[in-house]
Amino acid sequence: MSLINKDFRLNESQTHNHRHMRLRWALLAIAGAGIGAVIASTNTATQYSDAIATDSLPAFESVTTTTDELARESFSLSLPELQAQQKIIDDANNLTPKEWREFKVKSGDNLALLFKRAKIKPQQLDELMKSGDAAKTLTRVFPKDLIRVLSDDKGILQALRYDIDHKSYLMVERENGELVAKTYNHQLETRQTHASGVIESSLFLAAQDAGISQNIIMELANVFGWDVDFALDIRKGDSFTVLYEEIFRNGEKISDGDILAAEFINDGKTYRAVRYTNPQTNVSEYFTPDGKSMRKAFLRTPVNFARISSKFTVSRFHPVLHKVRSHKGVDYAAKSGTPIYAAGDGKVIFKGKKGGYGKVMIVQHGSRYTTLYAHLKTYNRKLRIGSKVKQGQTIAYVGSTGLATGPHLHYEFRVNGVHRNPLTVKLPASKPVPKRYMADFELSTTPKFVQLDLLARSQQVALADTEINN
Ligand SMILES: [Zn+2]
Repeated sequence: MSLINKDFRLNESQTHNHRHMRLRWALLAIAGAGIGAVIASTNTATQYSDAIATDSLPAFESVTTTTDELARESFSLSLPELQAQQKIIDDANNLTPKEWREFKVKSGDNLALLFKRAKIKPQQLDELMKSGDAAKTLTRVFPKDLIRVLSDDKGILQALRYDIDHKSYLMVERENGELVAKTYNHQLETRQTHASGVIESSLFLAAQDAGISQNIIMELANVFGWDVDFALDIRKGDSFTVLYEEIFRNGEKISDGDILAAEFINDGKTYRAVRYTNPQTNVSEYFTPDGKSMRKAFLRTPVNFARISSKFTVSRFHPVLHKVRSHKGVDYAAKSGTPIYAAGDGKVIFKGKKGGYGKVMIVQHGSRYTTLYAHLKTYNRKLRIGSKVKQGQTIAYVGSTGLATGPHLHYEFRVNGVHRNPLTVKLPASKPVPKRYMADFELSTTPKFVQLDLLARSQQVALADTEINN
C-alpha cells in the first residue's frame, strides 16, 4: 500500500506518477493472476516475482474468470497479501485441481441452496457453521453478496471467502482437516485530496466539474449551511476549496472520508471551516479558524437547494386569497416530497391542519424560539406531539396542502412569540472550542489552513491566467 501513497499532497507530476504506478500495478496484478494458476506448483516468492517481471500477459487468458476475479481483488497491491493469497490458491491447488468459484447470493437464497449450486455436500454446511463464531456472519448474507468457495471433486469444502463489508472479510480454510473460520480486516488507507471550483450556475454543477462526489457536496453545504443560504445567497463567481479524505482498500477508492478543511467565498466574503476532534469527548465538529463553532443553534434554511419564492414582508398581495396581506415567513419552492429539516434541536408542539396553511408542524426550541413549517405533503411518520427532534432531522416533506399555488414550504421563525424574518434574524451560535483545548486546536488546524492558503492562491493564479487568455 505504501508503494503508491508515500505523499498525498499531489502536485501535477506526482498525480501523473501515481496514475502510472497504479496502472503498472493493475497490469502486474492481471499478469499475476494468470501466473497464479500457471505456476501453482512452483510457489516460491522468488519464482513468483520473477514471473511477474517477465510480464507474461498471455498466461492471463488461460485463467477462468472466477480465479481472476479473486486474484484481481486480492492481488491489487501489497506483496505480502498477494503472496498469502497465492499460498491459499497454491495450497488448494496442491490438494485438488479445483479452483475458486464465485457465487452471487440471490433473493430468497440461503447457504444450503448456494451449496447445492456449488455441488458441495449438504453435510458440509454443518461443518462450516461449526468452524467458529466468525462463520455466523454467513447467516445474514444479502442478495448480490458474493461468496467464493474452493471445493474438491468429492464436494468437500476446502475454503470459503465472504466480504462482510468495506472493512472486513471472512475466510474459512481447512487446517489439518478441519474448517477454521476467521475474520480479517482489510487494510484501509486514508488519503488526503482537494478540489476547488468556481460557481457558474449552481454549486452542484461547479462541484461536479471539480470532480467532487455528491456526498462531499452535501457535506460542504452542511458545513457552510449556517452562514450561507445555498438557496438564496449563491452568486456567479462564488468559489470554494475543499480539503478532504478518500478511503482506499487495496489501492481502490471505496468511499469519501471527511472534509478536513474548506473555504467558501460567497459574494466576496470568505468563510473558512476546519474539522477538529475534541480530545476529551472525541466528537468532531467544524470550527472557524478562531475556534468558533460553524454550527449555529439553527439552520438558516430548512430545505436543501430550494428556491425562495416569497420573502418575509409586512404586506403583499396574496396570490390565492387575492387580498393584500403580510407574509410572516419565507416560502421555499421545491419539488413535492423534498425533505424538510428541523431548523434546530427541539420538540414537536403541533402537528395537524391549520386552515390555509394545510398540514403544519411547529417545533419549539428552548424557551424562546419556535419554527413553523406549512403546506406539508406528509410528516415524518415517527414524530408525534412531544417528540424530540435533532437539528437537520427530516421532520416532514414539501407539499401544497392548504392554500398554495404550487408545492412549497412556508417557513416561519418566532422569537418570544413574535414573527421574525428567518433570512435575517440573528441566530444564536453553538459552543466554541473549549479554552483549555485552544492550543491543541491551533496546533492541529494551522497546517490545514496553510494548505487552504496555498490552494486558494494557486486557484487565483489559475483564474487570473484564464482571464488573461480570454
Ligand atoms: Zn408563505
